Amino acid sequence: MRPDDGKARMMTIPRPTRRVIAPILLVVLCFCALCGYILFEARRATYDRAADVAKGLITAIEADIGRNIETVDLSLQGVIDGLALPEFDRFDPMVRNMILFDRSATARHLGKMFVLDETGTVRLDSKDLHPSPVNLADRDYFLAHKNDPNVGLYISRPVFSRMSSDRVIGLSRRVTKADGSFGGIVVASLRLSYFEDMFKKISLGPDGSITLLRSDGVALMRWPQPGDFIGQDLRRAKLFEELSRERDGRFDTTSVTDGRRRLFVYSQIADLPLVVSIGQSTADIFLRWNEYAFGIVFMIALLCAITYMVVMYLMHDLHRRGIAENQLSIMAATDTLSGLSNRRHFNESLAREWQRGMRDKEPLALLMIDADHFKSYNDVHGHPAGDHMIRILGAAMTSALERGGDLGARYGGDEFAILLPGTSVDGARSVAGKIRQCFEILCEGEGVKNLGLSIGIGCVTPVKGMHASELVLLADHALYRAKELGRNRTEALELPVQLAAARPGHERAA
Ligand code: GH3
Ligand code: MG
Repeated sequence: MRPDDGKARMMTIPRPTRRVIAPILLVVLCFCALCGYILFEARRATYDRAADVAKGLITAIEADIGRNIETVDLSLQGVIDGLALPEFDRFDPMVRNMILFDRSATARHLGKMFVLDETGTVRLDSKDLHPSPVNLADRDYFLAHKNDPNVGLYISRPVFSRMSSDRVIGLSRRVTKADGSFGGIVVASLRLSYFEDMFKKISLGPDGSITLLRSDGVALMRWPQPGDFIGQDLRRAKLFEELSRERDGRFDTTSVTDGRRRLFVYSQIADLPLVVSIGQSTADIFLRWNEYAFGIVFMIALLCAITYMVVMYLMHDLHRRGIAENQLSIMAATDTLSGLSNRRHFNESLAREWQRGMRDKEPLALLMIDADHFKSYNDVHGHPAGDHMIRILGAAMTSALERGGDLGARYGGDEFAILLPGTSVDGARSVAGKIRQCFEILCEGEGVKNLGLSIGIGCVTPVKGMHASELVLLADHALYRAKELGRNRTEALELPVQLAAARPGHERAA
């Protein structure tokens, strides 16, 4: 055995690392992916739930505002019908007001109802039998009806009431004379506090908001209410981009004012030119989800860390076992004294190389080496010195063997065998020469003289019908001949020609 064979075996330890890591990593990845999917779905459900809640609120707001505006509109139409009664102008002012203004005009958030003539001057007032002739011809609702007979119910921009200084919007309809010409308008003022009171009651979290706008972008109410919001033109807001496609829906966007991301759910109110929108901060929406996700991610990270530690421990253990098994197998094949292979390993290698030689039709050479008069050496220098020389012999053989396939083994006692696959007799002689040379050098270093080596070389190209033991016999015969011819020399035999001549007894089994 070559000294680096052990190292080579260490390198070829079947590493369990990848085989162990791959399935565990796969399981961990699948687990993480599953948790990620569950979290993602939970996040989406949270978002959808927030949108559904907002949609429900909008439906309720829409119903309330729609119903109230319809009531006011019916009152306006009642006034128009009353004005058309024959000889209406001849009625007493009190009777006229009783005919025109029903009890709806006394609703809490409803201001006064006026009838303006075609010049915009207040002629009738729901709360005053003798109204002062204030001129409101500059109001947008008056101008809208004056300029377009088909406006229908008009909802004005927010204004400060000239009578009460409350912030109001005007709901108005055109009065048409019998000849079809413009006869003024009837207008009811609705306090913006109506919307404010309604929106205030709805809780949407710290960053939530409810907004009411005219569909042309004029802001009517927002809660919470930033100072100068009412009356602003918000035509360019993303809401109106969305509204141009769908009369209700949802979207999210980042606020340019506070940089916060919000989910907006909006809807047009009935067929009125009004839009209500609810905005919720996504940070508020995902507050609970974030805590939940953090907990899950923490647990996953903990599980991954534990799995990692268990895997590392298992891998380390497997690696350690692999090394131990490898060392055991090396020890089981090694002769402890010489450091060469033992006889068992030699026999296994011989059988393997014999088959290979037969397959490749290549010669297989075997050197049998025996120390001369080693018994005397032991007797003179003692057994430990003899052991040391056996180690020296092993070292000499190890340094003389150069090819990877060459194998040196202790055959027994002071006898060694060297197997040289694919080597002719000449090659084997050359190896024998090198062994002698190395041994001499090492002996010189140890101060040992006159310790010779007898070497027998057998060389065969294995063929069917022959057995590996015949090669051992051949090398053994050659060794015997070397001993007979005076020791400290090399003799070689080759099959089949020389086998018969070299078989005079002295046979040994492999
Ligand atoms: P020959 O030249 O004919 O080989 O003479 P020899 O004395 O070497 O005879 P042989 O090879 O038959 O004897 C082997 C001797 O080698 C016997 C024993 O004293 C010695 N020997 C065998 N194994 C060991 C060993 O492990 N350690 C030591 N120190 N000596 C050994
Ligand atoms: Mg001997």
